[in-house]
Amino acid sequence: MVKIDLTLCVGCGTCVKKCPHGALSLKDHHAVANPSLCVGCGICTDYCPKEALDIDSPLE
Ligand code: SF4
Ligand code: SF4
Repeated sequence: MVKIDLTLCVGCGTCVKKCPHGALSLKDHHAVANPSLCVGCGICTDYCPKEALDIDSPLE
C-alpha cells in the first residue's frame, strides 16, 4: 500500500495519471490512495516530483 506524505505533496496530479490501477485521486489539493485498488507496485513513487510517495514495506 502506498503512503502519501501530505507535507510534501503539492497536488500536482502526476501520480493520479501514472497509477495503472486507478488507485490515486486528488482531494483537497492532495493525493489520496484507495486501499482497495492499490496493489503496492510502486510505479507512482517513480513519478512524484516531490518524493511524497513511498511504499509501506512490512519488512522495514
Ligand atoms: S503503488 Fe501502484 S497501485 Fe498503488 S497507487 Fe502507486 S502506482 Fe497505484
Ligand atoms: S505526484 Fe506527488 S506531489 Fe503530485 S499529487 Fe502525486 S503525491 Fe502529490
